[in-house]
Amino acid sequence: MSRKRMVVALVALVALVALTSLTASAQDASTVISNASKAMGVDNLNSVMFYGSGANFGLGQNNNANGPWPRTNLNDYTRAIDFTQPASRATWVTYAAPVTGGPAVQANGQQNIAAANNAWAQHLEIWITPWGFLKGASANNATAKSQTVAGKRYSIVTWNTPQKAPSGESYRVVGYINPQNLVDKVETWLENPIFGDMLVEGIYTDYRDNNGFKFPGTIVQKRGGWPTFEAQLLGANPNPRNIQQLVTPPAAGQRGGAAAAGGGPAAPTGAQSEKLADGVYRITGGYVALAVEFSDHIVIFEGGPQNEARSQAIMAEAKRVIPNKPIRYSILSHHHFDHSSGLPAVVAEGVTIITHENNKAFLEKALNAPRTLAPDAMSKSGKKPKIETVAEKRVLQDASRTLEIHHIVGLPHADGMLIAYLPKERIVAFADMFNFPAANEPVPNPPVVGTQVFVDNFERLKLDFNTLVSVHPPNPDRPMTRGDVLKSLGRGN
Ligand SMILES: [Zn+2]
Repeated sequence: MSRKRMVVALVALVALVALTSLTASAQDASTVISNASKAMGVDNLNSVMFYGSGANFGLGQNNNANGPWPRTNLNDYTRAIDFTQPASRATWVTYAAPVTGGPAVQANGQQNIAAANNAWAQHLEIWITPWGFLKGASANNATAKSQTVAGKRYSIVTWNTPQKAPSGESYRVVGYINPQNLVDKVETWLENPIFGDMLVEGIYTDYRDNNGFKFPGTIVQKRGGWPTFEAQLLGANPNPRNIQQLVTPPAAGQRGGAAAAGGGPAAPTGAQSEKLADGVYRITGGYVALAVEFSDHIVIFEGGPQNEARSQAIMAEAKRVIPNKPIRYSILSHHHFDHSSGLPAVVAEGVTIITHENNKAFLEKALNAPRTLAPDAMSKSGKKPKIETVAEKRVLQDASRTLEIHHIVGLPHADGMLIAYLPKERIVAFADMFNFPAANEPVPNPPVVGTQVFVDNFERLKLDFNTLVSVHPPNPDRPMTRGDVLKSLGRGN
């Protein structure tokens, strides 16, 4: 054999070996998937409808930054999934007291996932179900390996989505198939402004059988380590005849209740400002911020709300109205994600975050987590978060200005809530304790707890103010005074 022929033969052999091992592993995965598919009754499954009771949990809305997301019970929960379109619709009924006060009310809720919007944030709800996972695995060149987890031998099947993350990568989907060939758990990762690459887990237990079709009696979905959804299923039907009707939302105008979290319209990003005093500006156009001028820098109250774009717009507006000074601090009212999702942009700007001490460990861990799915301003800048804390009170002061930061105690909404107080200008900036009733609306009865807590705190701290700046402006937007707060409790000055 000539040297050249030998090389060719060797290359062919290497290629053959590579091909053989690839086939072996793919075949292994296809056997695992086909066994699970048979055991669970997925082979001829095109759609499913299931029902029971459940709960939604507000991601990033917990009272304490280290605790579970707050729960809302869902009655009459039903969900249909058509894997062929794919599309899904869930409906439920809630019963809760509104945050603006008054008696509890019944409300309808729904979540609609259409084929047209196939972003992974929506469609993962279809593909991380036990049945959807197996269908996705058959269609997307899954790989399989065997592994013992907590003493149980699992076939772990992994596939990558046709959907691409903002980084250009596919999302990864990992399923744990138990020795009975049932899917116990499915994991994927989704971009999140606070958590970065956020783990999403679907956990399926208490399997039941409906004529060969297997469904979990209990479903738990976790995001960021805590449940965001759970359901106890009373039943599940494969291939319901009216699936098209079940997954189609009613025509506009007949829809009731709030849409489920996620997929809402983008927040407005334009920023305007209103001068409240020399060097003090209320920045509007979305969540409201307060920009305060010091001798050689700027301090912003709520500089990182909503998203990166809103946060950048707030900081740009602050620098426009207070030119030639850097932003040194951004004070975070509280850790809830709608108030903190712009913090990566704040970090990228080199601004130090001031937050209540209860939030520090959580924010440091979350903001330092990898951001491979959707690189943000922070990860692109290479900057690390700088976080300083307040326990009960901190004063930012120089020759030109005094700004006090106070902790609001006893608030059910969040235990690490801060307000900003300008004693000379008699201004208080705050978030999420109460909304002002519209003009001519009666005093809320029962009273709003957050209003009472705020009044208790400003009386305890002896804050003398007559201008209130709310991160959520009243509707219609108008100046708010100390008298307006007391009036909303049915009290005079
Ligand atoms: Zn909040």
